[in-house]
Amino acid sequence: MIDHFRGGMHFPPAQPITWLDIPSSVSTTPLRITSPHKPVITLGQSVTAGQRLTEPLSPADPCIVSPIDGVVHAITPWPADTFHQHKHQRKPSIRKIDTLYDIHITPNHEETSAAIPVAPPSDRTLDHWFDILRSNGPWPQDEIGCDLITQLETTRHQKPSHLICIGLDAFPLYSDRSSLLMTYPDDAVLGTRILGDIVGAKHVQLTLAHSAKLISQLKRPGKSFNVKCICTDNIYPAADPTLSAYYFAKHTKLPASQPPSKKNIVIITPWTAIRIARWITRRALDIVQPIMIAEPNRNQTPSTHYALPGSDICNLSPLLHGSCEALSDRLVIGNPLTGSPIAAPNAAKGTLPPTVRHGIQLISILPSNPRLEPEPCITCGWCTDVCPTDLQPVHLAELIAIKPNAPKINKQLNFCIECGLCSHVCPSHLPLTQLLAAAKTY
Ligand code: SF4
Ligand code: SF4
Repeated sequence: MIDHFRGGMHFPPAQPITWLDIPSSVSTTPLRITSPHKPVITLGQSVTAGQRLTEPLSPADPCIVSPIDGVVHAITPWPADTFHQHKHQRKPSIRKIDTLYDIHITPNHEETSAAIPVAPPSDRTLDHWFDILRSNGPWPQDEIGCDLITQLETTRHQKPSHLICIGLDAFPLYSDRSSLLMTYPDDAVLGTRILGDIVGAKHVQLTLAHSAKLISQLKRPGKSFNVKCICTDNIYPAADPTLSAYYFAKHTKLPASQPPSKKNIVIITPWTAIRIARWITRRALDIVQPIMIAEPNRNQTPSTHYALPGSDICNLSPLLHGSCEALSDRLVIGNPLTGSPIAAPNAAKGTLPPTVRHGIQLISILPSNPRLEPEPCITCGWCTDVCPTDLQPVHLAELIAIKPNAPKINKQLNFCIECGLCSHVCPSHLPLTQLLAAAKTY
């Protein structure tokens, strides 16, 4: 269990990057929006920005809306029997969905507004907010697996004790979250306060790395809005929700298989807070998504972009332009240790270019090293030494091989946060994280 955090990777402090101002308009290309929910629009229908496109499967599922004015020029269903989706769990779980729908929208104009004209709720009642947020979803937190709508749904029945905005960087080489905090400090704090008030959290907190510049930016708004700013060492994987909950919410043990709200904690990232605050102050909801593209093996500043959901990722940066196919096995959403492959296989049509989704904040381009073959364990113990939740990864993997699904194993698996450190340090190249992650789906 998590008694102390002795693992992790230490890097020199990341240099914050100034994000450009969120644009008021963006150039528009045809969009392809993928949904697990049935479309409510028809072929050839005109749609307007903010119009609902799909019928959610359950009352807690967010609606998917059109980011632009345009015409639906294709709706393509495709089989999705292995579709993994963040739902009520923090890590991907297999959810039985037979069909996914690609909704293709041709824009009416070459330029479009970067925000949709939706008035924010006029009060701070949770039910009202839940309905409006859900209608204009999705609000997923792909990178931390904490879906906002799912968490809000839980808090309708029980007020959380804590709301934590994790401003620590998910991977210290990339300053994605701290850069957003630094660029929009007032909005990040205000949005955190607003969500804290809506859910009725007793403690409203924002975690950030020790950085004099960052602290000075957040000190004043933190004091004004009564949001406690907590500084800590940004040692990977300190930004994981399980570790954040343990260290910043009275040692609450947060199994990786449950949303934080089940343990009376709501966890958000800075972009959600910034989006909420800007919605209140500007009375339009940003529909563009900030995305950072980084290459860990090249010592270069990551590039930052704003893109509409459904747009082609390959067009985001000259680094990717026209080469997504060639890079497909080297592109991951998120950091290199835990990121998921970016290309979505489409059984019917081969691999289509990947598209932007809300919640993707970081894309890493991995080096093209040949994959190393696993060798027998040499019992060096490194995997145990680095595990931040005090598991014995190789022992657990051996138990799974002998008796998968044993209750004792499942209990321990719950506390694997899939940080990737055990696989990363293993001199025998054993895919421990992958084995443990796969065992959760048995
Ligand atoms: S991925 Fe490995 S190091 Fe990380 S929590 Fe799981 S077992 Fe521990
Ligand atoms: S790090 Fe790899 S080689 Fe070392 S004990 Fe763990 S599994 Fe075995």
